[in-house]
Amino acid sequence: MILNASDIVNKAIEFGFDKCGIIPVGMMSEYEVRLEERIEHFPQTQEKYEAFKSFSHLQEDYPWAKSIVICSFWYGRYHIPDELQGRIAKYYLTDGRRNTESKGYQTSVAFEKYLTDCNLQVATDRDFGITALRWAAMKAGIGVIRKNNFFYTEKGSYQYLEAFLIDVPLQYIAESHIKPCAEKCNLCMKACPTGSLEAPYMMCRNTCVSCLTTWDGWDLRAEPLQNRFGKWIYGCDSCQDACPHNKSAWKGEENFPGLNEWGNFFSYSEIVLSDYSWLESVIQPKLWYIPHGKEWRYKTNALNAMLNNYKPNYLPIIKEACNDEYAEVRDMAKWVLEKIQKKNDNSAK
Ligand code: SF4
Ligand code: SF4
Repeated sequence: MILNASDIVNKAIEFGFDKCGIIPVGMMSEYEVRLEERIEHFPQTQEKYEAFKSFSHLQEDYPWAKSIVICSFWYGRYHIPDELQGRIAKYYLTDGRRNTESKGYQTSVAFEKYLTDCNLQVATDRDFGITALRWAAMKAGIGVIRKNNFFYTEKGSYQYLEAFLIDVPLQYIAESHIKPCAEKCNLCMKACPTGSLEAPYMMCRNTCVSCLTTWDGWDLRAEPLQNRFGKWIYGCDSCQDACPHNKSAWKGEENFPGLNEWGNFFSYSEIVLSDYSWLESVIQPKLWYIPHGKEWRYKTNALNAMLNNYKPNYLPIIKEACNDEYAEVRDMAKWVLEKIQKKNDNSAK
């Protein structure tokens, strides 16, 4: 079978991806330069970014790899329950990477099988990406990276990307007609609650709410930015939601499997009082950056949001959390109570 690049691209779209392009692996080399710039600007993040350098030299880990097939899947199609809006990043709510019932997962698996059935050697990393996904997608012409660092197609930034390495040399640079960011626009930077998006294309991973509510920030009592998380308890969409190129980008016309069932029952209070078996069986498989065994983290994040958005009816819930079975939750709840007490004392003066 003689396979050409457009056969692969058309098949990706037929399976459910929105856009697709193909680049030679060598086109990733420039990514390292951008990474160095980021490290130079934020030396405190060096350790985190160092690991990404291998994305520029894919043939060291995959000597057989010749090309990267890069595809985008549009998740702006899904309905987000009101309780979750502005509290959990939409990407994580509609995350198809591990959800076998989701269209995104099924599209990815079917496409990988198609590539393999074409007798290609294939490698992918469905969880985190086998290369720098946004950079590869930009090089493949399927969209642009904007000043907020997110990747946009004509449908806005609510897309996730997947890359597949293949062992044949192919190239397909897609066409897109996307306007760049306006020179003077800085709405995303202004919307960033912690100042993490410090300058165009310059986001500090150490201070981004998305990182501080998932990978980092395990003891929020010691996190100096905890009072700037606003309503977020897992991820953050502020710099995407503020962007004019995302105006009307979210359509919300389809249901994501299982999301409505738990989404309307996921208020801060319900999280803090929830049963650990429910967090383990229902929530952790969806919001999986918090690893199994550390489900108490959903509760400490929710307690932090209660403090930041305090209402008197939270008080009995926070007090009850002082008796939680996990010390991390008990300690956080006691600390939140102290903070509330201090605030009350100050306003009584
Ligand atoms: S995700 Fe949130 S915290 Fe991170 S850069 Fe964007 S606005 Fe800032
Ligand atoms: S808010 Fe403005 S500067 Fe930021 S990504 Fe959108 S268009 Fe670009």
